Amino acid sequence: MSYQAPRGTQDILPEKIGGWQRLEKIIKAFCDLYRYEEIRTPVFEDTSVFKRENDSSDMVNKEMYSFTMGSDNLTLRPEGTAGVIRSFVQHKLFGSMELPVKLYYMGEMFRHERPQKGRYRQFNQFGVENIGIKSPLADAEIIAFGYSLIKALGITEVSVLINTLGDNFSREEYKSKLKEHFKNDLGCLCEDCKRRYQQNPLRILDCKVDKDLDIIKNAPSLSESLNDESKKYFEEVLKALDDLNIPYKVDDKLVRGLDYYSHTVFEVVSTHSESGSQSTLLAGGRYDNLVSYFGGPELSGVGFAAGMERLLLTMELENIKLEEDNPLDVYIISLSNTGNYPLNVATMCRAYGFSCEINMIERSMKSQFKSVERKKAKNVIIIGEDEVKNNKVNIKNIETQKQIVASYDEIIDVLEEFMEGDHHE
Ligand code: ATP
Ligand code: MG
Repeated sequence: MSYQAPRGTQDILPEKIGGWQRLEKIIKAFCDLYRYEEIRTPVFEDTSVFKRENDSSDMVNKEMYSFTMGSDNLTLRPEGTAGVIRSFVQHKLFGSMELPVKLYYMGEMFRHERPQKGRYRQFNQFGVENIGIKSPLADAEIIAFGYSLIKALGITEVSVLINTLGDNFSREEYKSKLKEHFKNDLGCLCEDCKRRYQQNPLRILDCKVDKDLDIIKNAPSLSESLNDESKKYFEEVLKALDDLNIPYKVDDKLVRGLDYYSHTVFEVVSTHSESGSQSTLLAGGRYDNLVSYFGGPELSGVGFAAGMERLLLTMELENIKLEEDNPLDVYIISLSNTGNYPLNVATMCRAYGFSCEINMIERSMKSQFKSVERKKAKNVIIIGEDEVKNNKVNIKNIETQKQIVASYDEIIDVLEEFMEGDHHE
């Protein structure tokens, strides 16, 4: 029997972890610049946190990992926003923190989808939520955040798509227009769209199966249903983006996969020719009804979530390397009968901030030097029986080939001299 990671999941091996850690570091630095604070919520929640009344999204209806334990109905989180807002309300952060409350999260999400390149069953999202104020400036700022982050990663071939879903009134009017439009042609729509017709006809426009049907292409445009207030709000968002020189395209068929959006929705997509159909790097929008849904006050929020695997894949496509070399400061070569001495030396080196590895098996000097090479060590400390007896070591710098015999107490001084100009933490 051979064991494999479940379909749609991946092991991130040490050779790839450097890229992940760098990505996480850059994201955290950006969150600090924009003053977003980290929040960590459980990986599973009560199913009702995600499955809200009348939700029509595929994610909620077809892709959730739900299970029961005793009398609890639980679901592995398929997205981050719902858990964050649940927590925001539960802990009354709207009372204890100044509004807007600006939170970010990073972690694994679970969706039972058909696995493809850039689409997995366990994947990682980084997301931000700005909760508590309603201002076109906040929408523009968060789009600028996502766009600049992607640019800072070195990704160049991207496009910002933006649309408005209007306020609740505009959206209800549009939904009834859509119902009217599709009324006599339900037969040509896919099964999912028939369900969407009942639950939320807006979602038909987002269908990946029916997207080329004339009846979808000829559907009325949402912009015609917008009331003046919704129009004005959207114009102000676009004006702010213009002032920031952020290029965007208004896409009036962009409705986004989740049900709780109102007003601004947006995506940042990779336009690289090989990015395929999994090209959306980051997606988000404004939500008006979510905080009150969870029992909090009527507060609006705006946020986005970025697919971290997709960011890394896109960087690979654009030949951007994130991993940094991580050379070893000291390799300790130990010959026979050296007892605990090498471990003592290593512990002292580490206490002074030098990364250190020790040979702990009986083998020739030559074979130990092979390890030195493989690990790209900068210095070698050689310890044999005589060195232990005399409380000394041999220290050699690989680059300069300089070699010194040092007493135990001198080791750190010598390493510091050898590594002068080198950065070690
Ligand atoms: P798609 O239309 O590609 O299914 P979505 O609308 O379901 O995306 P969101 O729920 O908005 O996506 O999630 C935000 C981001 O998370 C996406 O833009 C994408 O980068 C990433 N993402 C979503 N689903 C997956 C997945 N199954 N595997 C990897 N990344 C994903
Ligand atoms: Mg999806």
